[in-house]
Amino acid sequence: MPLSLLAERPAGNYPVGMGMCNYPGCRRESWPSSQDGSCFFHCDDNGSREDDARKLWDEARRLASEGGCDFVGWHFPECPDRTGFEGCELSGADFSGAVFQDANFTGSRFAGPARFDGADFRGSAFFGQACWSGSASFRQVKFETLAGFDDARFESSAAFDAASFQTTANFAEARFDGQATFTGAAFGGLANFDHCTFTSVRFGQATFNLATFRSACFGEEAYFRQARFVQGDFRHAIFRDCEFSGVVVEDELIFSPPSPPLPFVPARPFRPSEHGEVPYRLAKQAAQARGDYRSAGEYHYAEQCAIESARRSHAQWRPWRGDFWNRHTNILWCWFEFLLARALFGYGERPARVLLAGMVVVVLWAGMFYAFQGMGPGELTGGDLACCRVTFPECLHFSVVTFTTVGYGDFKPKPSCRFLADSEAVLGAALMAMFVVALTRKYMR
Ligand SMILES: [Zn+2]
Repeated sequence: MPLSLLAERPAGNYPVGMGMCNYPGCRRESWPSSQDGSCFFHCDDNGSREDDARKLWDEARRLASEGGCDFVGWHFPECPDRTGFEGCELSGADFSGAVFQDANFTGSRFAGPARFDGADFRGSAFFGQACWSGSASFRQVKFETLAGFDDARFESSAAFDAASFQTTANFAEARFDGQATFTGAAFGGLANFDHCTFTSVRFGQATFNLATFRSACFGEEAYFRQARFVQGDFRHAIFRDCEFSGVVVEDELIFSPPSPPLPFVPARPFRPSEHGEVPYRLAKQAAQARGDYRSAGEYHYAEQCAIESARRSHAQWRPWRGDFWNRHTNILWCWFEFLLARALFGYGERPARVLLAGMVVVVLWAGMFYAFQGMGPGELTGGDLACCRVTFPECLHFSVVTFTTVGYGDFKPKPSCRFLADSEAVLGAALMAMFVVALTRKYMR
């Protein structure tokens, strides 16, 4: 960081008024009033007299209007007339490592890429209504008081990675047309993103104190993985694709229930849900946040159904392609999932279905044993396997014993019907395991 180099250099190394500015890469003469041998623009007490400050701002605006916008490491004192860069046209401005006592970029236009990496805004920073045609880079910037980006427009990418906003960050009604990244950014005060329009935004590992995203619109990806919130308000926000895994919430995260209220189960099981899965996911998160786990479970079921039916409607029977076992295009797999995971198991939300399926299997198999006379008394009871006809209650008893894999040995399958008994034992073990899992999921939240 060039700025810290400047601070660490011992005073008196560069005698006043002799030689060049000690800021790396600066070719200006050092300023006679400077304590540490830096030039007028890099000196941190260049604003102690008002005419000095005026002179510096005039020069800065002149440079900006000429298009030579290298302000790396500059020290901007308070602007005497408070205008700063208000309404300025800046092309390819580089403010990396600059220190602003006071920054006003209201309504300015950044035609080329603008870099503010590592800049330090000690007073309030106004970027309201500024328009950025090129990329905007605010990596590791420190905003010590208000950062106002309300109504700003970022036509290209905007990077605020690891930026630190110590009080209010106001991005209300800002518009991000390109990718916006706030990875690891820290919002100490209110983070206001109300009515903000994002294309694709990444807030991974960002920390929020109080964040409001009311009526914000997330056009593509909204990535909040491992972000930390004390309180987050997403009422009426519109999501297309969101990722909230690993989010830590200290107080609460508010999602408005989608309106009109979502049905728990997508209306027609054989058609993809008209809502898609995202509203169900948000409704689930909202229900979890308010501790309504029963509704959360129902929304989880609806979300999984929506995912499953969308996948099934995209699946095609194309065994001649190399992707026969590709789960996204294989219709066989989709129907297998539909029958087993959704209809039978209910994504872990329907233990009664599994229980019912178990009973059906027991009775059905008993009927088959009876019809084929596929069993007889075993050696334990001293009976002969082929001696006599078995009754239906005996078949039912044998079916239950096989299903539950108990195996008393009082009855035995005939060798020709062993596969029947074996298949029932396998089904029984699987269904009982599924029943336990579904029951646990439903009641142990
Ligand atoms: Zn200099």
